[in-house]
Amino acid sequence: MAYSPIMESQAKLLTQAEQLQDRTVDLRRRLHRRPELGLQLPETQAVILAELEDLDLDVRTGTTVSSVLAVLEGELPGPTHLLRGDMDALPLTEDTGLDFSSEIPGAMHACGHDTHVAMLASAARLLSSRRSEIAGRVIFMFQPGEEGFHGARYMLEEGLLSTVEDAPVSSAFALHISSTFASGTVHTRGGPFLASEDRIEITVSGRGGHASAPHHANDPIPAACEIALALQTMVTRRVDVFDPAVVTIGTFAAGTTHNIIPPTATLRGTMRTLSASTRTAVRDHVRRIAEGVAAAHDLGVTVELTPGYPVTVNDATVATTVRDVAEGLLGPDLVPPMDFPIMGAEDWSYVLEQVPGAMAFLGACPPDLDPVAAPPNHSNLVVFDETSFPTGVATYAAVALDALAPTPN
Ligand SMILES: [Zn+2]
Ligand SMILES: [Zn+2]
Repeated sequence: MAYSPIMESQAKLLTQAEQLQDRTVDLRRRLHRRPELGLQLPETQAVILAELEDLDLDVRTGTTVSSVLAVLEGELPGPTHLLRGDMDALPLTEDTGLDFSSEIPGAMHACGHDTHVAMLASAARLLSSRRSEIAGRVIFMFQPGEEGFHGARYMLEEGLLSTVEDAPVSSAFALHISSTFASGTVHTRGGPFLASEDRIEITVSGRGGHASAPHHANDPIPAACEIALALQTMVTRRVDVFDPAVVTIGTFAAGTTHNIIPPTATLRGTMRTLSASTRTAVRDHVRRIAEGVAAAHDLGVTVELTPGYPVTVNDATVATTVRDVAEGLLGPDLVPPMDFPIMGAEDWSYVLEQVPGAMAFLGACPPDLDPVAAPPNHSNLVVFDETSFPTGVATYAAVALDALAPTPN
């Protein structure tokens, strides 16, 4: 690669991010101690506002959710780039033994959103020192309610993409930390990146009775078992293996004791897909199979399919650019190819439905653990390696600087 002033400037980004490391870690640990759940995170919001206070940013807060948007104007005219960090924690009790563990029983930053906030705030600080290299503006999006609360959708409804009048968001990027990738690595791919999610609840209704006389009752349990099995057959027989789906029944609830036929049996589960068309098809299959099996046994059934997040689809061009930028920062060894999507789900998908953009994973497996065996995100034991933070801060900044690079004249 030929030398260019832009490359030299990029190389300095990592150094600048390292100089911010004490600040990033301190902010992250303060957030980690005080996790909040859902769409209203007043303490977290206050911490973010305080952290951004000394920067020259146009800051505003959400009206329906406790979000923060901060706009950094570059010195040159140009488009608007969005960077996002989500803010919320999960309902579980931490058991890591870290000295900055959650002080709130039943709440833990087990998905690393505390690290996202800290890295994004430091990226805002870093980019504030580089306004002369920015043709356009960066919006820093601090978002509550990612963990099942559709926080990004609320922010879109509040006008996220038109935050700056006459300069709608034209590209977008988000990072997600992961304890099961080697620390300091960046992973992304074009096309499907994360899955769609829908919740399934199927209740089979029969007639309760004495376990010794099933012919006087109508037992919902065997039919519910058939439905659970038929759903797995459906996945292998009706879904294209190259456009896959996962259906998992996670709970099966029926009955009270050994000698009673219960009146109902309830299955709850989740379905994941990587395309809108397979998502629609699998939803139809689930409904038809449950209704068909129940009808075959003269049983009633209700099928509730609650939509979760859509498929997170990375724009192919943006994802390639993110990979190139990350390789420029870190070298190719730390940006391995990501051959397959992951079947988790993300509400960043709502933003990527409207704006070309991408998400990438930041590896943060602690150095003494094997990424394959490390407690994953959402575990009460998950630990993220903080030495990955400068990579995250620099990647956020580098992606924005690349998107908003002044055109040479
Ligand atoms: Zn997450
Ligand atoms: Zn999560």
